[in-house]
Amino acid sequence: LAKIVEGELDKASYTKDNQRIYIHLNAGLSADTCIAVNKGVDGVGLYRTEVPFLLQRSFPSEEEQTSQYRAILATYPDQSVVMRTLDIGGDKPLPYLSIEEDNPFLGWRGIRFTLDHPEIFLIQVRAMLKASMGLDNMDILLPMISGIAELDEAKGLIERAYCEVAAYAEEQGVELQRPRLGIMIEVPSILYQLPALKGRVDFISVGSNDLTQYLLAVDRNNARVANIYDSLHPAVLNALKHIIDTGNRLEIPVSVCGELAGDPVGALLLVGMGYRSLSMNTRNVAKIKYILRHITLAEMQQLAQFALTAALADDVRSKTTDFVEERG
Ligand code: PEP
Ligand code: MG
Repeated sequence: LAKIVEGELDKASYTKDNQRIYIHLNAGLSADTCIAVNKGVDGVGLYRTEVPFLLQRSFPSEEEQTSQYRAILATYPDQSVVMRTLDIGGDKPLPYLSIEEDNPFLGWRGIRFTLDHPEIFLIQVRAMLKASMGLDNMDILLPMISGIAELDEAKGLIERAYCEVAAYAEEQGVELQRPRLGIMIEVPSILYQLPALKGRVDFISVGSNDLTQYLLAVDRNNARVANIYDSLHPAVLNALKHIIDTGNRLEIPVSVCGELAGDPVGALLLVGMGYRSLSMNTRNVAKIKYILRHITLAEMQQLAQFALTAALADDVRSKTTDFVEERG
C-alpha cells in the first residue's frame, strides 16, 4: 500500500470519475521548500508566517522576512502561494512578546494584534511584496477576521505597503504585481457577512480548526474537552456547506486549509459538499489523493448528504469511516 500511495506523489488529483480536485500544501517550515512531494501539488494553500517568527529570538527584520518569503515563493514560481499574515496569540505566543490574558483564544490574536501594531504588519507586508518582486504567484491571507471593518483597515495598510514597495521596485526596474487578497473564514460571525466580501476579497480560505473551536465553544487544545472538539459535528459541517454554497453563488473562490482537509473522511465530505480546493500538511497529500482517486463524486455527495442531515457526530463518523474502510 505504501508503494501505491507513494505513486500518487507527482500526479494531479482527480476523483474516480475524473473531477479535478486542487491539492495545496500547508507550509511554514523552511524544509517545506525542498520536499519531493511538491511536484504533484497545485501550490501552497497556507504558508503560516508565524513559524519563522516563533523560531527566532526577536522580531525578524524586514530583510530577514523578505528572504524567507522569497524562498517559498521561488520554489513554486508557476503556482500560487498563499502567505498568511502573522497569526500569533491564542496557542501561538511569541517567546519575545508576552501577552497575558485570561482568554487568549478570545483575545489579542491574529489580525487583532497586527492591526494594533501596524508597524509590525507593515514590515511584514512590505517584506512579502519585496519577496514577490519579479514573480506573479503571491496571495495574501488575513487570519481571524471577525468583521468587515478589520478587513477594510488591513486593506488600507496593504495598499500603503504596496505603494511603498512599488516605488522601490520601479527604482530597481523590477515588476511588482498586485497580490490577490483573501481572508480566513474561521470566526463564526463572518459566516453571516459573506456577501459583504464580494468585491473586497479575491478568495476565501476556511480554517476548520478555529471554526470548530469557535462554533462549538471548545478550546482546541484543552484535553478535558477534546471529546467535544469535533469537526464532524453536524453544525460544523452545515457551516462548511453554507460557506461553499455562498462562495459559489458569489463567485468567490473557496478552499479549506484546516486539518479537516487532510483527513480522509473530512476530505471526502468536503468534496461531496462542493469544495474543489483543499490544503493540507505534506504528510497527508499522497493519502488524500489516493482516496479521492478511488471514490466517485456521486458517492462523496451521498456521504455528505447523509452527514449534513445527521443528528449526531458519532453517526457521521461511523458511517463515513466504515465507507472508507470498505474501500481499503
Ligand atoms: C485553522 O484555524 O483551521 C487554520 C488553518 O489556522 P491555524 O490552525 O493556524 O489556526
Ligand atoms: Mg486558525
